[in-house]
Amino acid sequence: MITKEHIVQWLEKVATVIEANKDYLTQLDAAIGDADHGANMSRGFKKVMSQLPNVADKDIGNILKTTGMALISSVGGAGGPLYGTLFMRAGMAIDAKHELTGEDMITFLQAAVDGVVQRGKARLGDKTMLDALAPASDAFKEAIEAGEDSVEALRKAVAAAEQGKKDTIPMLAKKGRASYLGERSVGHQDPGATSSYLILKALLDTVTAGD
Ligand code: ADP
Ligand code: MG
Repeated sequence: MITKEHIVQWLEKVATVIEANKDYLTQLDAAIGDADHGANMSRGFKKVMSQLPNVADKDIGNILKTTGMALISSVGGAGGPLYGTLFMRAGMAIDAKHELTGEDMITFLQAAVDGVVQRGKARLGDKTMLDALAPASDAFKEAIEAGEDSVEALRKAVAAAEQGKKDTIPMLAKKGRASYLGERSVGHQDPGATSSYLILKALLDTVTAGD
């Protein structure tokens, strides 16, 4: 079971992990974008951290929606609104819960993916964050339906996101700034797919902390 406390600790861990990977994300974005993905994510999650104390005692839906709004209000460009929509949609889908079953987590991840697709209109293989998020969501669902618990399913999801992130390297970008480069986008790992992997990995690390 993933609890509200896990969700709060997860967001705190994401802020820490983003800070630790800020330069790395910026380097990835320098190769095929405008070298601001690290700074964007850092600014966004600093804003999330400043809002978190106001909602830490509320339900998970509330916490996630607040996270989404903090990202939308503090980060410009493509990444902020996309991640903002991801957390808002996940929050709306989860609503007033204080803990999440495997089924709830399927709903969470599906809503997150659907939000990114509706907002950004990317398809699988376009070399975006979707290429990490969608395989992760699918792997999670498959594992739960096969009778595994949430932690094991999350392990599979993170492995799928990691593979998905690596799989963006040979892809030709079809969306976002990287698409302006055409063939020159090939051979570089997508920054957004990388941050999505880090965010999912942070959730796994949070729920397995102390194991
Ligand atoms: P910007 O591109 O405005 O500088 P960021 O650098 O913060 O914003 O984020 C770039 C990332 O956003 C890309 O690496 C990609 O993963 C993601 N992205 C861009 N456009 C889309 C889209 N239409 N759908 C999904 N993800 C996208
Ligand atoms: Mg950028």
